[in-house]
Amino acid sequence: MRKHIFNAGPCKLPDETLENVSKAVLELGNTGQSILEVSHRSPDFQAVHDEAVNLFKEVLGIPGGYSVLFLGGGASLQFCMIPFNFLKTKAAYVNTGTWSTAAIKEAKMWGEVNVIASSEADGFTYYPEFTIPSDVDYAHVTSNNTIRGTEIFKDLASPVPLICDMSSDICSRPVDVSKYAMIYGGAQKNLGPAGVTFVIIKNDLLDRVVADRMIPTMLRYKTHVDKESMYNTPPCVNIFAVKETLRWIKSLGGLKEMERRAIERADMIYNELERSKLFRPVVKEGSRSRMNIPFLLREGHEALEKEFLDFAKARNIVGIKGHRSVGGFRASTYNACTIEDVKVLVTAMQEFAAKH
Ligand SMILES: *Cc1c(COP(=O)(O)O)cnc(C)c1O
Repeated sequence: MRKHIFNAGPCKLPDETLENVSKAVLELGNTGQSILEVSHRSPDFQAVHDEAVNLFKEVLGIPGGYSVLFLGGGASLQFCMIPFNFLKTKAAYVNTGTWSTAAIKEAKMWGEVNVIASSEADGFTYYPEFTIPSDVDYAHVTSNNTIRGTEIFKDLASPVPLICDMSSDICSRPVDVSKYAMIYGGAQKNLGPAGVTFVIIKNDLLDRVVADRMIPTMLRYKTHVDKESMYNTPPCVNIFAVKETLRWIKSLGGLKEMERRAIERADMIYNELERSKLFRPVVKEGSRSRMNIPFLLREGHEALEKEFLDFAKARNIVGIKGHRSVGGFRASTYNACTIEDVKVLVTAMQEFAAKH
């Protein structure tokens, strides 16, 4: 039986993605070859890649003048590639938790980092307000903080190229891509399996590469833009899986529908957390993520943590143990998470509270 999966990443994927990847592992179309075997230079794989790129452009509404890349290395490699390519003297970063802290650490190797806002002093429990300065090479934000459970839903205007880590909320709402010079993320939170990183990059950002810096070939964005992700062997199976998820998103009505579902799921959990006598939300209202919902036991009940995890496990709920830096629990409610999954979780919370 399929579990109710609330993993933070790798995450639950649509049944359609799993079924079609399984079929392609046995045979890709009528090629007589598995997707594991087919040459990345073959027309058969080229068609898979092109469909993934085109669906991404269509679903997200990516305007002309942008390239879509599927690379290896995870979002974490982007933390270093971004400053390596674009940080000449100074960059602005918003610090909203673990992942942006990691991005800042890498940027500091290449220049000055202006942390324009941070919610660190308050345990990253809200999304801070900020103004993007114009005297920096670029600004970097993390739209959804997977660990802390905060999210910003606005696409901000910026006087400098705006770069966004959208690892964990990509394709969960309509986005005005034109506001960004680059959007990137690991696919394993909302689009596909681990092992492929998506990069949506405005082509004219490439003109801003630090001119007098030696950048290894694989770490240059231009290498991958020029070769359309085929400079080296791309993660073929993962790209296939992303394509399937994008097909699924499109078939359901696109990002408006993903957003409607995300709001429905998140509201159901936050409402329960607000009214529960046993559980409470961590994040302040106004900053609450629709994708990752950390929650704690109310004061005096902390000792029940292990018991609730076992209680949930017995109901086929997996992945709700909180991140070690926050504790308690975290429900990750990505695109493929169904309202039925959420109902099972909320019912478990209610039954557990009634028991205590
Ligand atoms: C998971 C995550 C990362 C790291 O992704 P990897 O692909 O594991 O390197 C970076 N940023 C955010 C927001 C994440 O959720």
